Amino acid sequence: MILVLSKSITREERDRLDEELRSENCMLREIQGVEETIIGVVGKVKKDIRYYETIPGVAKVIPITKPYKLVSRELHPQDSVVYVGDVAIGGDRLVIIAGPCGVEDRIRTLDIARSVRSCGAVLFRGGAFKPRTSPYSFQGLGEEGLKILAEVRKETGMGIVTEMVSPNQADLIMKYVDVVQVGARNMQNFELLKCVGRIGKPVLLKRGLSATIEEWLMAAEYILSEGNEQVVLCERGIRTFETYTRNTLDLTAVPVVKKLTHLPVIVDPSHATGLRDKVSPMARAAIAAGADGLIVEVHNDPANAASDGPQSLYPEQFEQLMRDLYVIAPVVGKQLDYAYLEKAATLHKLDSGRQVSEKIAYAGVPGSFSHKACVQFFGNDPPLISYKNFTDLFQAVENGGVSMGVVPIENSLTGSIHENYDLLLKHDLKIVGELTLRVVHNLIGHKGASLDRIQRVYSHPQVFEQCKRFLESHPRWDLVASKDTASSVLRLKENKDFSEAAIASKEAAEFFQMSLLKEGIETNPRNFTRFVVISKNDFLKGPKNKSSLIYSVSDKPGSLYETLQIFAEKQINLVKLESRPIHSKPWEYMFYVDVEMDIEDPCCRDVLERLKEKTEFFKILGNYQKGPKPVD
Ligand code: PEP
Ligand code: MN
Repeated sequence: MILVLSKSITREERDRLDEELRSENCMLREIQGVEETIIGVVGKVKKDIRYYETIPGVAKVIPITKPYKLVSRELHPQDSVVYVGDVAIGGDRLVIIAGPCGVEDRIRTLDIARSVRSCGAVLFRGGAFKPRTSPYSFQGLGEEGLKILAEVRKETGMGIVTEMVSPNQADLIMKYVDVVQVGARNMQNFELLKCVGRIGKPVLLKRGLSATIEEWLMAAEYILSEGNEQVVLCERGIRTFETYTRNTLDLTAVPVVKKLTHLPVIVDPSHATGLRDKVSPMARAAIAAGADGLIVEVHNDPANAASDGPQSLYPEQFEQLMRDLYVIAPVVGKQLDYAYLEKAATLHKLDSGRQVSEKIAYAGVPGSFSHKACVQFFGNDPPLISYKNFTDLFQAVENGGVSMGVVPIENSLTGSIHENYDLLLKHDLKIVGELTLRVVHNLIGHKGASLDRIQRVYSHPQVFEQCKRFLESHPRWDLVASKDTASSVLRLKENKDFSEAAIASKEAAEFFQMSLLKEGIETNPRNFTRFVVISKNDFLKGPKNKSSLIYSVSDKPGSLYETLQIFAEKQINLVKLESRPIHSKPWEYMFYVDVEMDIEDPCCRDVLERLKEKTEFFKILGNYQKGPKPVD
């Protein structure tokens, strides 16, 4: 059952309650929400559940109806994030685990690791103990395999995911592994589940070959009940009457399980299909279905793999899959971050160096799209600081008050955010990264409010424009302009008026604990905003593939053409060209140009020299890595 504590509970009441509950011999989990504190009581309580409501300080008692308690969303409404070093499974960035089925030899394993790492994998898989159907098949290298995996981690920075098949491997697992995989065949090996619960490392719990979702969640409950809450569920296909594929991938499990539990869910398209050419389509579908990540088998010589060769992707196929996921992810509100591990390592350095403040700035309030962009670029818990407006934010980054800032620069429907382009011209800062966010607008109301009672709606005027079609079908609504989307939700909350609503992101609704009255009300669903990360100093090392420039040219025929000719001759792709008036010179313009190249790469020195020659004013706004590296 769940005890919701009353807001006015006194210290003495709380102590008495704790004492009473402890005497029940139950497991207690306290969850501190923004609005209320709840205590999950798991186990068999001695008294009638109505009794607990009479204890002073208890506001409400809610029974947990499901047989699984600790994994249930009833007890833990927010999504859980499982951390493996710097990698957050269940956050806004997809976690892709890749590697061979089994560790075969050192050279080959390191080679596969390097290639999956360069394509964006953040954790490495490889079995050292292989549970095989036949006792005559390859059984894994044991500790020798674990040593090779440890070498992979050391060289590439990827954490290691490997299967444990028996509780007596606990010491080895403790020594070498970052994520313990419990395989499909062992999902109901209760001694093993209890053991991984006690080991306390993150666990990847595969769904059993013929396990129902409830049995799978009960298996997770075993691990949580040992005190280990770091469990990631993995759908890997179930046994059905269909024999064409090795198993039948139950993708429905992803949204079903996400609704029932707070635990992250990933998909294994390799074991689910057993056929290489079916792996990428199902992997793409899994991400579209809302999975938090994937575990994919990749091998550089699958024809000679010791196990599961026919379902292992070639590295090139994996690379192509990752490029597809990079495009799909923003559509479902996530990112595939090619610089995931580099960002974390650089932020650690910033943090320990403390040459500058480690904080990252955004304009607006929590739950805003800028806030979401920060989380998607920097990971789950970036040390954020909010500023009232863009001018203050730019100032803070320039003064070194914060290390970096994230600002919107362009929307796919409404065009450039000129204020920020002007600020980029004015300040001595660099663009060090970029990110694209899909903008989904929702009508948000109080919990219990209904659409037909709404009379007034708050949001940014541009958002009313973007939701025109929906708003036209409610002509009587009074539309009231707010500074931004998230602050419109704050205003709604403070007013406590059930006839009011706001338009903002799902995150804003969640943050302010409001309800979604209608999802996805923007007229055009292809609504994306591009954000840039600004900094005084360089951020990520390594190759760059995009540059942003500002320049002006002389007032004579062909002067802009001559600059564009330089790009054309060098086969440099231009991805943006826009003019902005120069404030002090009426009818003269600055050109904002984005190109797909590193303008400061020594091999392009002549491009840079010629551009400087042909322009009157020339400024490099930044050069950075955008998305995947080009395929050779
Ligand atoms: C594996 O990941 O290599 C494996 C054996 O998976 P499963 O337990 O899902 O069959
Ligand atoms: Mn396998």
